[in-house]
Amino acid sequence: MKVPTIRFLGGVREIGGNKILIEDGPDRILFDFGPSFSPRAEEFYVDYLQPRTTCRAKDLLEFDLIPRIPGLYTKEALGDGDLAYVPPEVHGIFVSHAHADHAGYLELVDPTIPVHVGEGTRTLLSAIEKSTRMKYGDHPWQVFADRAPIRVGGIEVVPYPVDHSIPFAYGFLIRTSGGTIAYTGDFRHHGPRADDTHAFFEAVAKEKVDALLIEGTRAGPDPRRNLSEAGVRSGVDRVLTERPELALACTYPRDIDRLRTLHAAAVASDRDLVVSVRTALLLSEVAPRFPSGEIPVPGRTPGLQVYARKKRISYLWERPFLESALPSEEVRGRGRKFLLALDLSHFPELIDLRPPKGSPFIHSMSEPFSEDDVDDRVMHNWLDHFGLQFHQMHASGHASGSELLEIIRATGARAVYPIHTEHPEAFEKAGPSVHSPELGVPYPVGR
Ligand SMILES: [Zn+2]
Ligand SMILES: [Zn+2]
Repeated sequence: MKVPTIRFLGGVREIGGNKILIEDGPDRILFDFGPSFSPRAEEFYVDYLQPRTTCRAKDLLEFDLIPRIPGLYTKEALGDGDLAYVPPEVHGIFVSHAHADHAGYLELVDPTIPVHVGEGTRTLLSAIEKSTRMKYGDHPWQVFADRAPIRVGGIEVVPYPVDHSIPFAYGFLIRTSGGTIAYTGDFRHHGPRADDTHAFFEAVAKEKVDALLIEGTRAGPDPRRNLSEAGVRSGVDRVLTERPELALACTYPRDIDRLRTLHAAAVASDRDLVVSVRTALLLSEVAPRFPSGEIPVPGRTPGLQVYARKKRISYLWERPFLESALPSEEVRGRGRKFLLALDLSHFPELIDLRPPKGSPFIHSMSEPFSEDDVDDRVMHNWLDHFGLQFHQMHASGHASGSELLEIIRATGARAVYPIHTEHPEAFEKAGPSVHSPELGVPYPVGR
């Protein structure tokens, strides 16, 4: 009998783009299905030059930017390309979390293939669809519960919550006829849900897994500074009490933990956190998935306001938030009462806000990896122009290189496949169980 296999169709020697195909007899399931952000992808498609929306899969297949899997894509996305449409041959997709590099290609997937997500991830994906141009397509969504096994044919999948920079992130135990696989998704254990990550790896160790598919975003040389979430909080507290001017911050739009941290710090220094309408929508939609009162909600939670950007038109979903939103004049007039969380794309607002020279700008995102990062240069040009004082304060969504090695030792997996990393070789220190996976090669599960 054919043994079950694992094939990595993305996320190999790159951060993001995870697409893992597990085959066991007649059963075929995928874990994550997101676009790659590697330089290879940008050889053909960049900001202004994108695949056609009418036949996106065909345009991506032209350059092998998505895997050539029959029975996966929608008829429309394949168009009249050389991969012909056939009815589904993949029996389910499990999405570890709502980040684009894991979920961003779901729109291409045949609308009859079940997509399994956590309940909170389903909420996040719909909030993102409502407030951005992102589309995930129509699917028979299957919402799973924490640690409740799901059966797809002969394969059993158990989702375990883990700590990451977006809530509702999961790792999975996957029991096949040949043995058990653990897939970590993206994770850390220095955030507010660290206990979840520990519990997942305890389950992995107990299961004595045959294969561990582990993310390695921060493996290898990484000079970037990293704080814990609590460390970010005390840093922001310090800046807000020291500086009497308008304080500015920028963070990742779905990092709910960071938004909570910024809100708590703002309130503690007698300020209001001011967020974009998009963030306001996200907070309002995810709040019911958390214990009551945990997530600050615009219009309900004290110390939280919405910023009214100058726009010609507003969408229907924006209107309830815009009714009581703060215009730039008000934020400028009472600057020291606010911590304004801007997206980098909202920087033109600074021209109206004119924060006094020396006003603090808290960069609560990853530092750029390379020194010639264009976006970073542009950001600093703006900060220099307005004389803003730069503060780097971030807690990464990922475990450090040494933590990853420690996890590999503690779990004792028979085979370890580092993915979602540019440095799989950095894992080799963990011993002979580590295999740097090759794209598309089937690896057998079990002995
Ligand atoms: Zn990722
Ligand atoms: Zn992620």
